[in-house]
Amino acid sequence: YCGFVAIVGRPNVGKSTLLNQLLGQKVSITSRKPQTTRHRIMGIHTEGAYQTIYVDTPGLHIEEKRAINRLMNRAATSSLGDVEMAVFVVEGTKWTADDDMVLNKLRHLHCPVVLAINKIDNVQSKDELLPHIQWLSQQMNFADIVPISAEKGTNVDTIARLATSRL
Ligand code: GDP
Ligand code: MG
Repeated sequence: YCGFVAIVGRPNVGKSTLLNQLLGQKVSITSRKPQTTRHRIMGIHTEGAYQTIYVDTPGLHIEEKRAINRLMNRAATSSLGDVEMAVFVVEGTKWTADDDMVLNKLRHLHCPVVLAINKIDNVQSKDELLPHIQWLSQQMNFADIVPISAEKGTNVDTIARLATSRL
């Protein structure tokens, strides 16, 4: 059995790092510089009889004036058409206009969307994180909300489990 999972989010939230952790190997280029991923990077994870195909979508860009950004938006959106689950990656307590744009795209999807709140290793206090999680949970009907650290590997197994069990 094969499932198709998209990893979605604005540039620099840690999508490629998450994909690498999910696959346990470096297949996707990570960078401090946003917009490193210029094309879809796929990875196949096999666990028993289940095979999950992950797609690391390029970042979505508000600025569509440049042709390259337009192309990247199209690639990012086209990879959402046939997914069975989306992992929406956001960054700690930081929310930007780009996150808003991704959220609006995700609202049109018919598949379950799991919210992965990444870089929790950077979040200082729970007093800051908990109200933000509360706010995020009201923005869309998420299948699940999982605080993670893609870099440290925290809760990445939960994302992998959701990906295999929900498909
Ligand atoms: P992408 O543009 O969404 O694919 O983001 P990348 O995976 O390339 O990561 C962007 C930057 O965030 C890189 O410098 C990563 O090392 C860093 N990063 C990713 N995940 C984490 C995390 O869990 N914690 C911290 N502190 N940094 C992270
Ligand atoms: Mg990337």
